[in-house]
Amino acid sequence: MPETHEFQAEIKQLLDIVIHSLYTEKEIFIRELVSNASDALEKLRHTQLTEKDIADADQELEIKLTTDDQAHTLTIEDTGIGMTHDELVKNLGTIAHSGSKAFLQAIKEGGAKNDNLIGQFGVGFYSAFMVAKSVKVYSRSWQSAESGHVWTSDGSGSYSVEEAADLTRGTKIVIELNDDSHDYATADRVKSVLERYSAFVSFPIQLNGDRV
Ligand code: ADP
Ligand code: MG
Repeated sequence: MPETHEFQAEIKQLLDIVIHSLYTEKEIFIRELVSNASDALEKLRHTQLTEKDIADADQELEIKLTTDDQAHTLTIEDTGIGMTHDELVKNLGTIAHSGSKAFLQAIKEGGAKNDNLIGQFGVGFYSAFMVAKSVKVYSRSWQSAESGHVWTSDGSGSYSVEEAADLTRGTKIVIELNDDSHDYATADRVKSVLERYSAFVSFPIQLNGDRV
């Protein structure tokens, strides 16, 4: 049974601004999600130094993106540290992240026009909602005893979390693109964005099976 949670008030506010932003280069959501994938892989690598019992220990450390032009989805997966049920709720439902905090602070102070603030501060994971009808986050922690879960939201106030079978370690984010953003389900568009950012990522990246 899926459990439904309300986003924290600050996240609701943030999502409202992100979803209605007109001035931000929407493509930055790819940079944000790739950077999260890279962080998760880095954390896994670090955890491997001290922990012996790591789920799916022989998986390659890598990032894979897949476009589906028919279904209008973009998927990004990593074999990083993953998230438990409680980490999904905490990390994706509350405002822990300093960039998002600074963003909300700037909005409050400046009565700012939001023009460039999203790009400037980086709203991290939530930037996916600029292009998404819905976002699904499948995740399984490195801790072998934890089962996998899927977090789902359309960005409007609440999200659900449900156990998901057959996941291996890491995180897979499936973005169902909104009508204005179908472009991001084409390999050419995603490739051109990745080429701008992937040079700064120290793990291999694949797009539809090809090394970027
Ligand atoms: P930041 O990356 O600056 O912490 P984000 O909004 O981008 O902020 O992400 C929020 C949190 O969600 C991260 O700190 C991390 O704990 C978690 N998270 C996001 N993406 C992933 C991922 N691919 N794998 C594991 N954890 C993730
Ligand atoms: Mg981030």
